Amino acid sequence: MQFNQIPGLEDVKQQLLHAVDNNHLAHALLFYGPEGSGALALALALATYVNCENKEAIKGDACGSCSSCVKINKMIHPDLNFVFPYANVKEALKAKGEGKVELSSDVFLPDWRKFIEHSPYGNLSDWAKYIEADNKAMLIPVEESRQIIRKLSLKAYEADYKIMVIWLPEVMRQEAANAILKVLEEPPYKTLFLLVAQQPDAIITTILSRTQKVRVRPFTDEEIGAYLIQHLDVAPQEAPSKAFLADGSIRRAMQLADGVSSDVGTMFRDWLRVCFMSSKLNEGLEWADTFSTLSKDDQKGFFQMGNNYIREGLLVINEAEDILRLEQEEKEFIQRLGKFLTNENIEQALRLFSDAIIQIDRNANVRIMMTDLYFKVHTLFNK
Ligand SMILES: [Zn+2]
Repeated sequence: MQFNQIPGLEDVKQQLLHAVDNNHLAHALLFYGPEGSGALALALALATYVNCENKEAIKGDACGSCSSCVKINKMIHPDLNFVFPYANVKEALKAKGEGKVELSSDVFLPDWRKFIEHSPYGNLSDWAKYIEADNKAMLIPVEESRQIIRKLSLKAYEADYKIMVIWLPEVMRQEAANAILKVLEEPPYKTLFLLVAQQPDAIITTILSRTQKVRVRPFTDEEIGAYLIQHLDVAPQEAPSKAFLADGSIRRAMQLADGVSSDVGTMFRDWLRVCFMSSKLNEGLEWADTFSTLSKDDQKGFFQMGNNYIREGLLVINEAEDILRLEQEEKEFIQRLGKFLTNENIEQALRLFSDAIIQIDRNANVRIMMTDLYFKVHTLFNK
């Protein structure tokens, strides 16, 4: 991964390049950003850059063609190590004829390489699906910390820096986290820890305090639009509305470009219309059933869309309609919706929909949740 393969984020890129070029790079960095952000991609680009043998070839980026760049790009460099969550899928591996297996990140490495190669913008449930972990818990078990210490005790094979990428340290077991505190604080010479998190608040504080934080903001609509056109073959005229729906996430943008779940917006609009009218109580309850058949991603996408619409509604009530970046149908919907919005109910609706996303993540009963939401949203807009 080179910096130039990641759209935008110039500020963070410059900050990282400056630190490397001036020998100010901390030995443990925590990249954190929301789902679908460039956090992992930036960590990989930094790993490529620090070990590039020909940094002068391209200003502000790795050369992409030296032996180190090539190996890191294929993720087969012996000094590039990965730790990531996985589930107990021993049975599945046995069924594939792999005999007795001791689980570790290394067992999953071939899958991990393919997963990241396809996109470094995925989330934990994408990865779980990829390794067929179904609904099993995905964790970084304590055994991984022993592996980290063992791997870092070896001298770098061929690179300048030995690198340890830890993806999603927030799902590290407490014992695992405790076991690496010492090496995180005083790593061997020329060792670089690159932690990549989506929910930094969930990381234990003793780990947090030993890292330098690199905040990775969500992508802008322009950055996503450019990515859609350049990498995902989306027609330029379709890019702005898809970028809007993606809401800062390249992961979401990729789904939209694939035509997956592009209709959650329509569904949300239909649902909200039903919520408005008390004569539609039955329909509101039927919705709870329909909703429960959607994939978890679509369920979350539904409410993310909801939040987008409400935020755009805020522009309508503040008479800034010309900045609405939506397609005609959506624009009309927002303009009609705008008549019912107040600063107060906007705030409450955003909270309701954000809570719904959290509940979906926690595997709440979505039928009950949607029934409850029908009444709450109905009351909210009929005051
Ligand atoms: Zn290079």
